[in-house]
Order: sequence, then C-alpha cells, then structure tokens
Amino acid sequence: MSCNRSGAPAVGGVGIDVDGLDVPGLDGLARGPDGSVDAVGLMSHLRRLDADGLATDYEVLELVTAWDRVGSWVSAQQLTAMAEFARRPDVMGADRELAKASRAPVGGVIRARPDDEIAAQLAVSRMAASTRLGLAVKLADQFGLTGQALAAGRIDVSKARVIVDECGRAAPQHLHALQRRLLPRAGRLTAPRLREHAQRAVMALDPAATEKRSKAARAAARVILTPGADGVAELWAQLPAQHAAAIEQVIDAVAHRLKDAAPPSDTRTIDQWRAAALAMPFIQAMVTGTLDGETPVPVGTRGRSPVRINVTVPASVLLGLSEAPAQLDGHGPIPASLARLLAQDATWRRILTDPQGRVTEVGTTRYRPSTPLTATVQLRHQRCVHPACGARAERCDLDHIIRHPHGPTTVTNLAPECEPHHHAKHRDDLHDGNALQLMLAQSRSQPPPPVLQPNTDGTLTWTMPTGHRHLVAPPALVEPDTDATLIHATQQLTTTTHPTQSRAEQALTQLLAA
Ligand SMILES: [Zn+2]
Repeated sequence: MSCNRSGAPAVGGVGIDVDGLDVPGLDGLARGPDGSVDAVGLMSHLRRLDADGLATDYEVLELVTAWDRVGSWVSAQQLTAMAEFARRPDVMGADRELAKASRAPVGGVIRARPDDEIAAQLAVSRMAASTRLGLAVKLADQFGLTGQALAAGRIDVSKARVIVDECGRAAPQHLHALQRRLLPRAGRLTAPRLREHAQRAVMALDPAATEKRSKAARAAARVILTPGADGVAELWAQLPAQHAAAIEQVIDAVAHRLKDAAPPSDTRTIDQWRAAALAMPFIQAMVTGTLDGETPVPVGTRGRSPVRINVTVPASVLLGLSEAPAQLDGHGPIPASLARLLAQDATWRRILTDPQGRVTEVGTTRYRPSTPLTATVQLRHQRCVHPACGARAERCDLDHIIRHPHGPTTVTNLAPECEPHHHAKHRDDLHDGNALQLMLAQSRSQPPPPVLQPNTDGTLTWTMPTGHRHLVAPPALVEPDTDATLIHATQQLTTTTHPTQSRAEQALTQLLAA
C-alpha cells in the first residue's frame, strides 16, 4: 500500500503510477514503496504547473498524460463509492447498527434499485447508471486487479470496461489469470485493440464454453431505437450474424435496383437508398396491417393499443403560419415541414394544451372514444414518470398517484409508470418471502420505497429512499403559441370557411370548431 507524506494510507489504497511520466518537477514528489505518487500530492503539483508557461510541446503533452492518469484515479474513487452504496440496505430511518450489520460484502448488491437512485441523483438514464454501477461492483470484487490499475492511472475507464466486459464471459476461476495477462499491455493499446486481445484470450481458454456463450449471445438478440435530432433516429440491432448478413445483402440489392430505376434528377446516394429499402416492408405493414414473412403476421394490435404513429403538431404549423417543431411520439421533436408532410395522410384529433404547451384534453371525435383518459395521460407524460426512465407511456401501467379510492381517477392523479418503476413504488417484492428485506421493512420508522406526490402546478415530486427529491414535469409537447397574431389567425379559422381551403385546411377548421 502506498502512503502520502503524512504517512496515512492513500485513498483507495493505491497511489498514481508515474512510471514513464516526464512532467517537470516530478522527482521532487514523495514516492510510496511501490514508486507511486500520492494522488492529491500529484494533483496539487500539476495545478501549479502552468501549461501556458511550459517550455516545450513535449512537456505539454506529458502534462496531458499526467492529468489523464489523475482522471482515471478520480473515476476509480467514484466507482468505489458507488459499489459501497449498492451494498448498503435501503432503510431510511431504520436502526443504523442493524443496517450496518446487514450490508452485503464488498462487491455485493443488497439495495433494491441502486441504479434507479443513482440515475435520478446524477440525472443520467437508468441504462447509463446501471452500466456504471455494474462496472463498480465488478471492480470491487472479481476484477480487483483491474480496479487497482484504474486507480493507479495505468488504464482509463474505457479500458477497465473492456476488460470487465470481455473477461466477464470467462469462468470465474480464469479471471485472475486473464487480468494478469492483459493488464501489463493494456496501457499501450487502444480500447478496440485491447478488446480484440481480450476476446482472443477468452476464446482460447475454453472453446466449448465459447460455443455455449455464442448460443446465449444469439438468444440476447434485440432492437433498440435511439431518437436523434433534425427528424432522424438511429436503429440498432443485435441479430444472429446470418440474419444481419441477409438484411445487408437484400437492402443493398434493392438499393441498387431503385437507384438504377430512378430518374437522373434523383440525386439520392446509395446509402440513402439502402435506408429507404430497410424501411420499406415495415411501412407497407403499417398500411396493410400485416408484416409479410414466412408466416404473415398481423400488426393491428400490440397487446394494448393499435400500432400507429402519433404526431402532435400545433394548428399554426399545419396552416403554415409557424415553423415551430412538432412532436413525434417515441421520438421527440421533428421539423415543421416533416410534420406537415405526415399530416396530409393522417387521422386527426383535437388536443388542447395549457399555456405551457402541456396536454390537458384529448378530443374524442376521431379516435378510441372509449379510453380518452388513458390517451390523455399517455400523451401528457409521453414516458414513464420516473425521473430517469425513458419507457414509452403506452407500454406503461397507469398508476393512481394518490391511491385509489383516496385519489380520483383524473388526468392529474394518473401517471404512466413502467412495470419495474410501478413495482418499485409499491415495493410488492417486500412480501415475497425475502426474510432480510422483511425484517428491515419492519424495523424502519419511515417507508423506504420512492414516494410520488402531485403538486398543484401539475408537476410531480419523487422522494427517493435516501431522502433526495426530484421534480418531474409533464413535457411541453408543442411550442406554446405566444405570438398574438398566430392565436388570432387560428381563432379566425374557427369561424370562417374559405372556399379556397385545401382538404387539409377544411378538416382543420372543422376540428378547431368541434
Ligand atoms: Zn420507468
């Protein structure tokens, strides 16, 4: 263990490795028995060095390197704290001694949903929080050597993640040897090169196990949609390799045919044609209600609601009076021009918003008149109301914020919550026979599950098991029409019918008047 100048153990038990580092004045810093330098001492030395005043570019690049090592050390400290958080039981107000005695071993997780709490606290997605937490508990446990290398600045977080991800596929008894093999070279390899090395090492260890893992990887096939700006989105898929190859070949062949058949004035690139070819069967399926395949599959319902694309667009945008962005459900804002294009072929319904642009009422004239409240609540919140959750509202449970029958079944007392967050709130799992959880639940003086409360302004407040509070507001779905002339122009339309109106404009006029 390295020591700082006062002789106390360094934080995390490891100093920063300065091997090969050539920053001015480094020789003057105290070294631990292993030659490392105390992190805090190194940081204050680096802060005193003025990059602007360094004589050579060489020295400046050495300074960049030194800060990189400090950054790795900082990350290691935060990950250590995360792992500690996860092994503490969530017992707000409970007997502290009991809670302390109930901690999981280092690297264990006893907390019900530590990733949710970290996500809410750091304002990151649950996916991001659980990825970081997963790394933290592994570095604290089986990947201790990698954790030490990170704290010593010999590798950065991305490389630590590569080692944990790739070696994590191997059996536990191999982990120590794998880390000893990879770590000495890891500092000099880029993360992708390190990944290749690690994959080769793991596959060479046990071909039978490799085959088994390959089967499991194919079972983990999935598709992920990530909304992007400016009216595009990214679609990511993990598929069996042969299916991915089939898609690639078919869209490539179709794209070349379409491009060859297109008039010379069509300047679309082959990439653009490939993207169009990929979407073709699915757009067709939305029109016909059936996805063609070996066995055609109807797509009319998905358990709860019919497949549809919801676009919310201000009346002023449809009329061409405004260029404010519209909202595509499950995606986010899209440009006004795209919204007008989509609206030409759509079924419309009237949606009223408050002055902040939040939904207050969804018209029943056109669509699903039996469940207008559900539609309103889904559209109002768009997603699960947990502060760090992205689950789409139409796949969520509708939960009474103030429990039924104490709270009413109204727009403001209903909120979409995805299944995990709905359960977390009611903490149904407390009674499933987990003896420790039950004991802790009985010992607490206040209930630890997250508590959701409505506020008078339409926002919601979450109180987390730690006592942290998070405010959640229904998103503004459209830009508020604050321009007086726009509002005036829109109102005019409700009373006037022009013979020159297009079909779309006439429909809009009827809707506004409804
Ligand atoms: Zn959720």
